[in-house]
Amino acid sequence: MENYRIGFGYDSHRFTGAKPLRLGGVTIPGAPGLQGHSDGDALVHALIDALLGAAALGDIGERFPDSDPAWQDADSAMLLDRVVREVSDAGWRVGNVDATIICERPRLRAYASDIRASLAERLHIPMDSVSVKGKTNEGMDSTGQGVGLAVHCVALLVRR
Ligand code: MG
Repeated sequence: MENYRIGFGYDSHRFTGAKPLRLGGVTIPGAPGLQGHSDGDALVHALIDALLGAAALGDIGERFPDSDPAWQDADSAMLLDRVVREVSDAGWRVGNVDATIICERPRLRAYASDIRASLAERLHIPMDSVSVKGKTNEGMDSTGQGVGLAVHCVALLVRR
């Protein structure tokens, strides 16, 4: 039986002016929010898929279907709590996570520390085991043209 498992998650959402921007459970002031059935927190969604992927427990779409009114405007951080519990029940703890958020605006560096602290608390790991990096797409493609935001995330699970 392995002692380590790695998982990868990806998510993207369009910007909308209708709600505040939430990333990693943190509200980013003065930025347009992300369209979605839940609060649109693409960072948490990518992280959830990385965790579920590492444990081979399926994916976020089957766990929390957007056809289910229970997840309408859901706080994605609450969904993350459920997945962390489930991964733990399957015999794993989170080792570290590393995420890259791709968007032209807002610039996220100023919020990276708050986002890392928020995720570390949810994952029950130290902040120095959580990495959140911001990049632009240099104006290329729809992300670069500011249509939305995309997140790539890897997570390592360690046998408990
Ligand atoms: Mg999503």
